[in-house]
Amino acid sequence: PPTDFDMAYFHSYAHVGIHEEMIKDRVRTDTYRAAIMQHQNSIAGKVVVDVGCGTGILSIFCAQAGAKRVYAVDASDIAVQANEVVKANNLSDTVIVLHGRVEDVEIDEEVDVIISEWMGYMLLYESMLGSVITARDRWLKPGGLILPSNATLYMAPVTHTDRYSESIDFWRNVYGIDMSAMLPLAKQCAFEEPSVETITGENVLTWPHVVKHVDCYSISIHELESVTTRYKFKSMMRAPLHGFAFWFDVEFSGAAESPTNNHEPSLLVDNNIMDGNQRKKRSNPNEALVLSTAPEDPPTHWQQTLIYFYDPIEVEQDQLIEGSITLSQSKENARFMNIHLEYSSGGRSFVKESVMR
Ligand code: SAH
Repeated sequence: PPTDFDMAYFHSYAHVGIHEEMIKDRVRTDTYRAAIMQHQNSIAGKVVVDVGCGTGILSIFCAQAGAKRVYAVDASDIAVQANEVVKANNLSDTVIVLHGRVEDVEIDEEVDVIISEWMGYMLLYESMLGSVITARDRWLKPGGLILPSNATLYMAPVTHTDRYSESIDFWRNVYGIDMSAMLPLAKQCAFEEPSVETITGENVLTWPHVVKHVDCYSISIHELESVTTRYKFKSMMRAPLHGFAFWFDVEFSGAAESPTNNHEPSLLVDNNIMDGNQRKKRSNPNEALVLSTAPEDPPTHWQQTLIYFYDPIEVEQDQLIEGSITLSQSKENARFMNIHLEYSSGGRSFVKESVMR
């Protein structure tokens, strides 16, 4: 049964603003539409379920691609508007809006295609992927298509002096007054929790590390409860290290060519990461569409997520930065994410605990 936290979560999706923000994110919405059209052969004449349909936009794209039937499922009251939108576009014969959780609603047939826009900040925040897995295990035909097919979460060390100064160094001289006594509180308030903001390739000190690769065809709910990875970076320059940035991409490849063991971080191909305009084309043999939220790619409403240290670490070129990170669903509220970060560099080690709520 849904918890109070689930109810609050679904309630947040009943507001227009969140849907407006997502739909106006053209990188997001255009990539989904292009992916649906690219897979038209697998969608036309077929049965689709849209996990978390929101306003119904992806369901309608699928209907436009020729789907025989689309089950548009959403537990939020936005499903009421989705149903009105479907009616107003004369698609009621094709798109069936089900107002409830994918865990609870009944669909009396198997489906050929699952489409969903489930990605949260740092990919896994909101824990909605579990509902896609539930839909897959309840309804997807063997050999069916899941869009997107796989996802990758990355992390990289960053330098961000401007951001640090504006929140912290500011207190050192306020109208000529030394307010350094504010520093501990300022650091805690600014950096205790992860922050969602936009950085550029210039903030990134070296190639990213893959925190987690998710194959939507095979991942289990259990595997998502806690994700741990060890990382080791070698800074490409001398700079103050302020923390780590996290971002993700998702790929829309077909069922057959879902690359289960081929997930090199192909997006940062050379030093041109320092110059976002000159990035080479990613190598992608299947030409699968990719929705990227990387700092060197066009910005999306996901931006990047940053975990700042309370104090920067001065690193030299080629200095090692290593440690581990664990992302786990909070026991109190599975929509929250606990982050346990261990890092060491230049002989000093630290641990930082934070919660994304
Ligand atoms: N597909 C829409 C909305 C994406 S936002 C679009 O692309 O614009 C995610 C939506 O999933 C929200 O409306 C949320 O209410 C819904 N959702 C999340 N978990 C769900 C679940 N378990 N069952 C039904 N709907 C869910």
